[in-house]
Amino acid sequence: MPLLEVRALEKHYPVTEGLLKTEVGRVRAVDGVSFTVERGETLGIVGESGCGKSTAATSLLRLEEPTGGQVLFDGEDITSYTPAELKRFRRRAQMIFQDPTSSFDPRMAVGEAVAEPLVIHGVGGRERRRRIVADLLERVGLSAEDIDRYPHEFSGGQRQRIALARALVVNPDLVVADEPTSALDVSVQAEILTLIERVQAEFGLAIVFISHDMGVVREVCDRVAVMYLGEIVELGPTADVFDSPQHPYTRALLSSIPEPDPWSRGLGTVLTGDVPSPANPPAGCRFHTRCPELVPPEGYEFTRAEWRAVMNLRIRLEREGIDADAVREFVTGEASGERLDDEVAAAVRAEFELPETLSDPSAERVLRDALDDVVSGDDDAARDRLAEAFPTVCAGDRPALEPTDAGHEAACHLHRGYESAPADGEGTQETAPGADE
Ligand code: ADP
Ligand code: MG
Repeated sequence: MPLLEVRALEKHYPVTEGLLKTEVGRVRAVDGVSFTVERGETLGIVGESGCGKSTAATSLLRLEEPTGGQVLFDGEDITSYTPAELKRFRRRAQMIFQDPTSSFDPRMAVGEAVAEPLVIHGVGGRERRRRIVADLLERVGLSAEDIDRYPHEFSGGQRQRIALARALVVNPDLVVADEPTSALDVSVQAEILTLIERVQAEFGLAIVFISHDMGVVREVCDRVAVMYLGEIVELGPTADVFDSPQHPYTRALLSSIPEPDPWSRGLGTVLTGDVPSPANPPAGCRFHTRCPELVPPEGYEFTRAEWRAVMNLRIRLEREGIDADAVREFVTGEASGERLDDEVAAAVRAEFELPETLSDPSAERVLRDALDDVVSGDDDAARDRLAEAFPTVCAGDRPALEPTDAGHEAACHLHRGYESAPADGEGTQETAPGADE
């Protein structure tokens, strides 16, 4: 039995309006996340800011009430725990936060702060607690003499050591560490990571290690869960995920790791744009609005970049629309009354990094008609035209987390018999004859 088993965990925040606080929507911060953590294991949760990592952490510890799913700890469902049971659970499962400064009361000496959980759980007398704390301070690389000093007397890295001591003082089985080194200088970061690894072995701890940094995750985690917009999109042993990433989002995160060798920099895809709002997540695969490897429609020969650009245009039309008059004003200058439709269309193309002509002439014809719709102010027609001519499974179906050929799990249509468009430069025509004019 795993130490921790998270099943379809969900945390939705209501979006309310008006005096009556009518619910008008929900922020799907965590939207059906499942994973296990074995005793003594470190599971990484990685993803960009806003993907729901912190919410997953606080919900699985019931620091916030989950809105759905189950959390089994040692086989018991903590979501049905009574307050007394929850208190016992809190002793066995601790959390460390990103900012060590805000987690300490400035008026409380370090010894008191570290001993606080012991007091809460009624462990030992004053003298015994002092001995435990002094011992722990040394084990996290501080000195027993630090016990009577105050938080402001320590550096950020030292404060994170104190936070670790406070988490360990009740001898927990599980520590959830939410970006514990993100606020620290790189050199200090490495020291704290080494300390966490050492302490983990010494205490036989299971750790859920949350980070937005793939490099950090690689260093400390046995397994890794890649999170995107409230969901896990890839899950597997760290070495496998790094050697053979199965989800385009993971590949994009990996290519953003700073490369020490400047000559190999800039390879791979770069992730552009922000994580969409979880109040209105994209239909189908949630990553389809940014995915570089989006499955192209049948019957056309798109290159990867072309297809991405066309989809960006379509998504913009679906989500916000395009103000053709504003583009026209920009193109013609305010005083001019000319229409300059071709120039307006060209400006829209440029904005979406669409080439002058797509390499596939029939795709180009569709695009051209859609741009005509845009120029004449009919966004809906443009949107429908693109959606109808260029359907993609990625925008239609939500892929489930399933085993891949690589052995570990990913949630992507590319593992279900679909293929992405060829990367640019891979067997595509330079120009499309007859597509121009
Ligand atoms: P991460 O830790 O990966 O950066 P978070 O879990 O902090 O992500 O946030 C996930 C999403 O949930 C974000 O869009 C955030 O704005 C939203 N969110 C977090 N807390 C709340 C809250 N209390 N009410 C509404 N939305 C929230
Ligand atoms: Mg966070």
